[in-house]
Amino acid sequence: MKYDFPVTKTTNPKQKPDPENLPFGKFFTDHMFVMDYDEGQGWHDGKIVPYAPLELDPASLALHYGQEMFEGLKAYKSVDGQVQLFRPDMNAKRTNKTNDRLCIPPMDEDLYVEAVKAIVKVDSDWIPEKKDTSLYIRPFIFASEPHLGIRASKSYKFVIILSPSGPYYANGMQPTKLYVENEYVRAAMGGTGEAKCAGNYAGSLKAQLIAHEKGFEQILWLDGNEKKYVEEVGTSNAFFVIGDEVITAPLRGTILPGITRDSCLKVLRSRGYKVSERLLSIDEIVEAYKNGHFNEMFASGTAAIISPVGELKYKDINMIINKGKIGPVAQMLYDTIYGIQIGKAKDEFGWIVPVK
Ligand SMILES: *Cc1c(COP(=O)(O)O)cnc(C)c1O
Repeated sequence: MKYDFPVTKTTNPKQKPDPENLPFGKFFTDHMFVMDYDEGQGWHDGKIVPYAPLELDPASLALHYGQEMFEGLKAYKSVDGQVQLFRPDMNAKRTNKTNDRLCIPPMDEDLYVEAVKAIVKVDSDWIPEKKDTSLYIRPFIFASEPHLGIRASKSYKFVIILSPSGPYYANGMQPTKLYVENEYVRAAMGGTGEAKCAGNYAGSLKAQLIAHEKGFEQILWLDGNEKKYVEEVGTSNAFFVIGDEVITAPLRGTILPGITRDSCLKVLRSRGYKVSERLLSIDEIVEAYKNGHFNEMFASGTAAIISPVGELKYKDINMIINKGKIGPVAQMLYDTIYGIQIGKAKDEFGWIVPVK
């Protein structure tokens, strides 16, 4: 390894959770990676320490003005026992894009990936092996300088924590019910929609809560300017199959450029599907539904990989998609991407990075 991060092992290892009944994001491993940034010094002193609460000045800028970003990726134990990551270089790149938008100093992308590998290696015995489980990796950065007044911080903390996790949706790959939000907005052109930052999520809670109360699992967001074009779902990107065209929203600054989204596009194109990254209006979807051409819908994201959508409600129109069952495109993508992640399918795109 090019980087040498000192490791302080815990003297008090925790009991591992029951692999048969693993929730998503509730348990954390024995260690974490921490690194500091200070003006004039850059990123420094990356190290692995026992998992513990962070000490934080109450005036830390992140707590007041939300200068915070995060990432999400997973480690798997492959069918032949190798510990591996899925496209971690993409998370490093996206971190720097988000950082740029939030005026957080950039990070060396190699260092980022090596830090992820180092912490996963230390806690690799926490990687669950049951089907649809994984070690979820959460790197994040927050402004730590004590200061009241809006400006970019002069110091930051980069932390990586790990969570052995079961399927994102407790019932496994069941089609979900989505509500098309036509009052609240998540992002607008020129805003922070394409940055993976805390502020985007705080602002989405209210709409999410209302949708839950109405019996829907997630929201399908429309564009913030016209409330006309479909954008994304909660923490995933959205795909629609209309006739034989597979459609997802274009990257124009308002949606998160998902790594799973990119992986789906690459798999679909390599298999000869007709794929479009284009504006798709909710009216076009309703029209296709009425004509019997709205064949499939699913969401893509690291947590659930592929999550089929069985029902979509817009105003008073309730659309049942593919009889409420998972469709063939969603199934093919899940099998291919999950297959590559656990080493069951050939790594035809060179996406797997072993942790050695
Ligand atoms: C993280 C995220 C996604 C999915 O990105 P992946 O890299 O595929 O996990 C999509 N939308 C939002 C808003 C997200 O936060």
